[in-house]
Amino acid sequence: MTKVLAVLYPDPVTGYPPKYARDDIPKITHYPDGSPVPRPSSIDFKPGELLGSVSGELGLRKYLESKGVDFVVTSDKEGPDSVFEKELVDADVVISQPFWPAYLTAERIKKAKNLKLAITAGIGSDHVDLNAANDHNITVAEVTYSNSISVAEHNVMMVLSLVRDYIPAHKRIVNGGWNIADVVSRSYDLEGMKVGIHGGGRIGEATMERLKPFGVKIVYNKRHQLSPEKEKQLGATYEPDFNKMIKDIDVLVMTAPLTPETYHILNKKTISTMKRGTYIVNNARGDEANRDDIVNALNSGQLAGYAGDVWYPQPAPVDHPWRTMPHNGMTPHMSGTSLSAQARYAAGTREILEDFLDNKPIPDVYLIAQGGQLAGTGAKSYSVAKGQASPGSGKK
Ligand code: NAD
Repeated sequence: MTKVLAVLYPDPVTGYPPKYARDDIPKITHYPDGSPVPRPSSIDFKPGELLGSVSGELGLRKYLESKGVDFVVTSDKEGPDSVFEKELVDADVVISQPFWPAYLTAERIKKAKNLKLAITAGIGSDHVDLNAANDHNITVAEVTYSNSISVAEHNVMMVLSLVRDYIPAHKRIVNGGWNIADVVSRSYDLEGMKVGIHGGGRIGEATMERLKPFGVKIVYNKRHQLSPEKEKQLGATYEPDFNKMIKDIDVLVMTAPLTPETYHILNKKTISTMKRGTYIVNNARGDEANRDDIVNALNSGQLAGYAGDVWYPQPAPVDHPWRTMPHNGMTPHMSGTSLSAQARYAAGTREILEDFLDNKPIPDVYLIAQGGQLAGTGAKSYSVAKGQASPGSGKK
C-alpha cells in the first residue's frame, strides 16, 4: 500500500473551518506567461477554502483513499518523537509546505527507506537536502508558479509599507495617538527611488512589473539576463554583479531561491556597502540574511527597514530577534499561502500525485530534482554544492 505523509500547519485556533470573509475567489486560468494553472483530473474542494492546515488536507483525502493510499496528515514535525519522524520511515511520498516546512535532512532521508517523492505544496524546496535526495534517487517536485504572483503582491505591499512607514502610523492611531510630526518623520514617497531586485524569475519579474507604475528606477540581478523586449516592458536594467547592484539602491527585494550562493548573502559586509537608509524586503528565504547582522544594521540606522515573511527556523521561536527589532515589517510565513494561492498549489499537488500514482512522468516545469540530479525548474533555478547539505534543510 502506498503511503503519503503530509505535514501541514495547525488549524486556526478558533476552529476549522474558519468563517470566510468572502464567498468566492477570482477564477484564474493562466499564469502571466500564458501557461495554464494546474489541471488535475478533478478537485474535491471549493477554491477559496482553507486547505493548507491539517483539517484542510490539501483537499486530497477523497482522491487518495479512492486510490487505496494510506494518507497520514500531521502538523507535528519537530524532533525524533514527532509524528512526522515516526511516520516517515515507511512513507512513499512526503508533502510539505514551505510555511511549515518538514525539514528533510540527510539523516531523515536515510531513515526513509521507501521515500520516492517529496512534493513541495508551494514553491521553494530548500527544506529538502537536495544532495541527499539525489543520492537516494528521490524525486523532488514543487508547484511552480502557483504562488509567485501572491509573493509579488506581498513584495509590493511591504516595499510601500516600509518606505511610507505605514505600520507604526497605524499602530499610533490604534493606540489613540495623533502626532503628525511623529508619524511622518520616517515617511517617504517611493516615487523616484531605485529598487534592486535579486533574482528575476517568476516572482522577480512580477514584482518589477507591479513596481514600474510607481515611477521607480529598477535594476535586477539574476543568473541570466532577460530579453531586451522583456527589459523594456519591465523598465529594468541588468546588473550581473550583486555586490555592485546593492551599492546605490534605495530598496532591495530578494526573490531568488536559497542555495549555497544565496545563503547569508545579506551580511555585515554586504550591508555595510549599501547606502545608509536602504530598505530590504525578503520574502524569498530567511537564511539569505544573517539574522544578527540585520538586527545590528537596523539598530545602527544603516538599514531604514526590513520586512519579510521568511525566517529560519520555522516556526520562529518566540525570542527570535526579528520579531522585535526596530523598523521591521515581519509577518509569519504567509505570502504564498493566501486562500487564493492554496487553491492553485493544492490542485498542483494533486496533479503531481495523479502522475506519480498512474506512473506517468511529472511535468518538467514541476521538477526540482530527479534521477540523481537537479532537473526541470530545479536545473534552472537551484544549485547544490557537492558534499554539502542544502542550506535550508535543517541543521538539527
Ligand atoms: P523562479 O524559479 O521562477 O525564479 C528564481 C530565479 O532566481 C531564477 O530567475 C534564477 O535565475 C534566480 N537565481 C537563482 N540563483 C540566483 C543567484 N545566486 N543570484 C541571482 N539570481 C539567482 O522561482 P520564483 O517563483 O520566482 O520563486 C523564487 C523563490 O521565492 C523560491 O525559490 C522561494 O525561495 C521563494 N518563495 C517564497 C514564497 C513565500 O511564501 N514567501 C512563495 C514562493 C516562493
